[in-house]
Amino acid sequence: MSTQTYSGSCHCQAVKFKVDLDLAGALQCNCSICSKLGAVWAFAPRAKLELQSGAESLGDYQFGKKRLHHRRCTHCGIETFAEGVAPDGTATVGVNLRCLKGVEVDKLTPKQYDGRSL
Ligand SMILES: [Zn+2]
Repeated sequence: MSTQTYSGSCHCQAVKFKVDLDLAGALQCNCSICSKLGAVWAFAPRAKLELQSGAESLGDYQFGKKRLHHRRCTHCGIETFAEGVAPDGTATVGVNLRCLKGVEVDKLTPKQYDGRSL
């Protein structure tokens, strides 16, 4: 696979964005939030995500070491992406692939990431 531009949104469409992602990097995580969310993630530099609407509807949930900002829509509750800083200092975004248009998440083979043991 290669990097492509995808459109995504939350359930109520308040939050809409475009993002450049390579779905070959898809992963699923077993940490306390991901196991409840059921999300499959792919990551990109934050600069590759363009928020088209909904900046005022983005909640900011943090827990544990507070390294990530979980961005849930304050209207419908769907977490479309999470923001953080990669170990090399790059502002990074993890995108919930289930929120992208035209992506069949069940046809991907995400790597399993052991976030629980961090
Ligand atoms: Zn929403």
